[in-house]
Parts: sequence; structure tokens; C-alpha cells
Amino acid sequence: MPEPLIVTIDGPAGAGKSTVAQMLAARLGLTYVDSGATYRAAALRVLEAGIDPHDEAAVGRLIGRTDVRVESSGGESHVLIDGADVTARLRTPEVTLAAALVSRLPEVRAKLIQIQRAFARGRGVVMEGRDIGTVVFPQAQLKIFLKADVEERARRRLNQDSHDGHKATLEKTAYEIGRRDQLDAERKISPLTPASDAIEIDSTHLQAEQVVGQILELVRKKGWAERGGLVR
Ligand code: C5P
Repeated sequence: MPEPLIVTIDGPAGAGKSTVAQMLAARLGLTYVDSGATYRAAALRVLEAGIDPHDEAAVGRLIGRTDVRVESSGGESHVLIDGADVTARLRTPEVTLAAALVSRLPEVRAKLIQIQRAFARGRGVVMEGRDIGTVVFPQAQLKIFLKADVEERARRRLNQDSHDGHKATLEKTAYEIGRRDQLDAERKISPLTPASDAIEIDSTHLQAEQVVGQILELVRKKGWAERGGLVR
């Protein structure tokens, strides 16, 4: 039996990773995993405990004793914290900012990376995040680094969030995305950077289907399709 196919999709916020990763997983018969949701869930736990996300020692202790689980159902990625599915509560601006802060802490990363790796044991996955190709699965067969101009990413994020009842301006959203990019790129451990063997795709002027088409072409060329399932 060949190793199950692991596809990693890394990149900054709003580059289209979730949409592309979900569509790709469905086409390849692989399981979609949103690693960012594990950092968001840790952040939610920290905020609900009334702990300052900057307080490294307190955050480390709390997350160390928190049960975090990743599950997949119906093509969607879910995170459970101490047994409760918190997936629907992870998209608020407070959780978004706190996630970028707690993800800088080595204890938090070490724990969540183990959970992400354990989930993929024995099954093919499309996992999206910031360090999946560089740190979580450096041995992955296919690594994509998805990027887009910051204004286009802000526009997409605004469209996405307006469905959730959040109202923000393009300028403010672009500023917040830029600030998160900076936090992710400047952190000492697992900074956001393409793996040396990642294929970079700029999605600024592409629809998600076009990005998925380009990736499927790569999968077909390498003859990897039959590892995960059939390309549909
Ligand atoms: O992808 P998403 O926006 O949900 O990620 C939330 C935060 O989690 C990011 O800003 C980043 O700081 C962190 N993250 C990370 N490593 C990953 C995925 C997300 O540090 N693999």
C-alpha cells in the first residue's frame, strides 16, 4: 500500500486556503483539515478562562491541560475542546486576534502540531494552515503556498464575514489582515514562509475553481490521484 497522499496548503489569511482545500479534498477523496481552527479553539479557551493571551505561562498551563480534538464530518473540519464542538464560535474578531497571539507560544504549537499529525495518521488529508508544509508534514507529497494581494484578501474576508453579521470597512479589514500577516511572519517558531519545495500560486486574479484546477493538474501529472481516491 502506498503512503496516503498528504497535500498541504499554506499561506496568509484570506488567500482562499479554506475554499480551495475543501474543494480539493472533495475532488481527491481526501479528508479536509483546518489547522487554524485548532489555534482558534485554543484562543477561545484562553479568552473564556479570562486569561490574557500574552501571558505565556498561564496560557501554556491552561492549554496543556485542555483536551483538543480534531474531527471531520460531511467534508467539514471540526474542533472539540474538552468534548464540546466549538467550531461555530471561532470566527469572531476577538478569537481571530487571540489566535494569532497564542499561536506564537511554543507549548501551544507543540501540543497542536501533535494533534494535527495524529489526525492524519493512516489517512490522506488536505490540511491548510501556515506551517503545514514546513513543520507539520515536511514529507508531504504536494505542498502549495497560496497567496494574494492584501486588498483582494481583505475584500474576500469582508464578503465572508458579512454573512456572519460582522460589519467592517475594507480599510480596517486590510489593516487587520496586514497586522496578522506580520505577527505570523515575524514569530520565532514556525513563521509563515513557503516550504522550499512548495509550489506558489497567486490567487489574486483567480477563482477558487481555477486554483483547484491548477492543483489537480499537478496531482494528475505526478500520478498521485489514485493514492487518495479518484479525482472526481
Ligand atoms: O487560518 P486561520 O486564520 O484560521 O488561523 C488563525 C491563526 O492561527 C493565524 O493567524 C495563525 O496565527 C495561527 N495558525 C498558525 N499555524 C497554522 C494555522 C494557523 O500559527 N498552521
